Amino acid sequence: MNSESNQGRNEFVNFWERLNDIFPYHNYRREQFAIISAIQKATNNVLLIDAETGSGKTAAVLSAILSSQEKNEKILIFTKMLGQMDAWFRELGLINDYNRKTNQSIYSLVPLVGKSHVCPLVTKNNRKQFTQIGCPLFNCSHNKAFHLLEEEYSAGKTLSNFVISQISDFIKKGVGLAEVLWLLENRIENIGCPYLAIKAALKNANLVITTYPFLLNPKLREILFENMDIDLANTTIVIDEAHNLAKGDFGELSYRALYRAVNEIGHHPAFEMLQRLQGKEGLHKLDIDEGTLDDLRNSGKQYLLNRFEQGHRDISFTLKVSEFLENHYSCYLTSDKKFTLYLKDPRNILNSIKLSKQMILLSGTFRPLKHFSDFLGVPDANKIIVLSEKLGKNRIVLTTSDPELTMKYHGRSTERYLHYRKTIKHLVDVIPGHTLVFTPNYELTAVFANLLKTKFVEIPNQPITKFINEVKKSEEKAIVVAPARGKISEGIEIVQGDRSLISAVIIAGLPFPPPSRSLREIIKEYSKFWGDVRATNYMNYLQAAVTMRQCLGRMIRSENDIGSWIILDNRISYMDVFPRAIECKNSYKMVERLKFFYKNHKMS
Ligand code: SF4
Repeated sequence: MNSESNQGRNEFVNFWERLNDIFPYHNYRREQFAIISAIQKATNNVLLIDAETGSGKTAAVLSAILSSQEKNEKILIFTKMLGQMDAWFRELGLINDYNRKTNQSIYSLVPLVGKSHVCPLVTKNNRKQFTQIGCPLFNCSHNKAFHLLEEEYSAGKTLSNFVISQISDFIKKGVGLAEVLWLLENRIENIGCPYLAIKAALKNANLVITTYPFLLNPKLREILFENMDIDLANTTIVIDEAHNLAKGDFGELSYRALYRAVNEIGHHPAFEMLQRLQGKEGLHKLDIDEGTLDDLRNSGKQYLLNRFEQGHRDISFTLKVSEFLENHYSCYLTSDKKFTLYLKDPRNILNSIKLSKQMILLSGTFRPLKHFSDFLGVPDANKIIVLSEKLGKNRIVLTTSDPELTMKYHGRSTERYLHYRKTIKHLVDVIPGHTLVFTPNYELTAVFANLLKTKFVEIPNQPITKFINEVKKSEEKAIVVAPARGKISEGIEIVQGDRSLISAVIIAGLPFPPPSRSLREIIKEYSKFWGDVRATNYMNYLQAAVTMRQCLGRMIRSENDIGSWIILDNRISYMDVFPRAIECKNSYKMVERLKFFYKNHKMS
């Protein structure tokens, strides 16, 4: 046996020995073992993991990357939303508890969040303004207090290590992001500014967790990388819910927002450029220099500060325009009812981290994996699909081949809508609890709410918490109708305790992006490197698949939630999205399947 294979064998043994100490549960589930093995064996530095809810992926990934962590190696985790950080804290809390018992060292996980989430001067009344311009909103002396403490610490033990020890001592079973932020804001005496404390801690943390803007926005990424003192070749990066990166557009700005910005500060070269392009066909390259953008930003800040001092609590649309234009050099602009940015080449989105030691892209919504890896510019990545056994038992997925059930744009008619109504009514009769019905847009949502005679309908700019509370209070089975890209679909959960109150989600029409001139133009551009078929698929089917899975996810709070996913659009037959789907010819077949399923779970 040569020395190389000996070394490989030793690494293998060390990995599994360390894993045995780190993994926070008694046994691995089959799904977790598959994930851990894939990370251990990965031959490419990029790994895509498609693992369903309930597969225990967070514990598996965390244990595996800690087991292969080398000396001075950094681990960096990106989540889309702050709420998704809790799962990582929860699993690390269990690992730390075990390490405490066995006298091993405990891990730190430092959350880099926006200033508005930790600044002690921020209140409900000024949060929006602070989010836009940050510290200049206040005459703050907390930073001085922080720097004084930093000086005290500069001899010997660093402040970075002090903050890290406070955070890691705190990470135990049941602790989530909110508790860690509370610790930073309230418990560390004389710390002054908690945001500066977090930044100081980044350098020596075992693990850092933050949100997508710190990956996608070059300025924020620089803050993160500089403060972490990052060496990519010695850094493992995990991107959670990474399907979100394969989104078609990269930002939107309404014409109305532009008018409001002009009303705020009057004419500006950046506004004039946008006004010239408004309503013009095609893809536009934006020619705007940094000086002009800086000037726009400063004018917006000044406007907001003046209004704030006068007691007004409105945000600045000038700043909204400047935020929209921030990534202009890597994007095309289209102007079709609103301004939209599209990446010139989505395959470059991960370029800034491609040299990392290992990059793990994680999702429960990555099918078809090949399309996602192509879209994200990592076609040679290792790929693994993990199905959750428990979820397979607790959920039924029904699709249809009924020729009358399709929301194809040109086939929409009153007869079709009535056929949808009849089908949904049949299904709802046998669904034991609340049903969520998603339609492709707000207009069809109103049509369906009318047809189904339900008062629970999502409308634009609705106070959503009040709406959800009314659904929760409903003593009868509720039908909630909402658009596929509305507020409910994007993350609102209808739960009691840790259980979902939704027994079924119905997709009444696949949520393809609305056809538009912009979309056609961008597909034409992407065809240059993907070819016509793939460009069309990635900007239509892939986008619909991501949106649909987002909608369906509203039913699952945990693997224990029982219910059905029903896709009422026969075009689903061409999409490889649901490995366990049962295709039914008509609503009678669906009803039979549902009756059997709910009866088996003693829910009928
Ligand atoms: S320096 Fe820190 S405490 Fe002061 S305003 Fe800025 S974020 Fe808030």
